[in-house]
Amino acid sequence: DPRINSIRTKIRVVPNFPKQGIDFLDITTLLLDPKVFKNTIDMFVERYKNKNISVVAGIEARGFIFGPPIALAIGAKFVPLRKPRKLPGEVISEEYTLEYGSDCLEMHVGAVQHSDRALVVDDLVATGGTLCAAMNLLERAGAEVVECACVIELPALKGRERLNGKPLYILVEYH
Ligand code: 5GP
Repeated sequence: DPRINSIRTKIRVVPNFPKQGIDFLDITTLLLDPKVFKNTIDMFVERYKNKNISVVAGIEARGFIFGPPIALAIGAKFVPLRKPRKLPGEVISEEYTLEYGSDCLEMHVGAVQHSDRALVVDDLVATGGTLCAAMNLLERAGAEVVECACVIELPALKGRERLNGKPLYILVEYH
């Protein structure tokens, strides 16, 4: 698909962010090109329309950029999965380990139902810890996670292995 290359070329690599030795893949440069941003959303929509997905769960913060346009286009509800103490209502929480320390995602109680079929959306999968926590939240609430979708995968970090066999769809690999 020729759209893939246009997406790849719009992702900027920022050396030494957020700390020394880390190459940060920046998707904000992709958002500056409306045609490429639309191609990105379209590729997900083409894959997920007519799959009976009833909820798109977006991970804070960049899953809030790609998730809602996909949800609107496929006629699904959008559920934000947020960092701790951001959601005002009753929440369930899922902690996960990072390279140093731990982090946490929260979801509103009542946001998903047992009958829901969920797609998890984020910008990038590295170790897979974040997607794993997101899936656990949805499954604890009784939803079925159909697939995870990210713009970028860093295959060297083997995030797929942490997803317990759940399918992961990505547009661009970064080596
Ligand atoms: P993981 O839990 O898979 O190790 O890390 C993925 C999470 O960290 C995602 O929420 C993603 O937004 C963020 N992340 C880690 N590294 C990068 C990066 O280089 N670029 C971007 N855009 N996000 C990153």
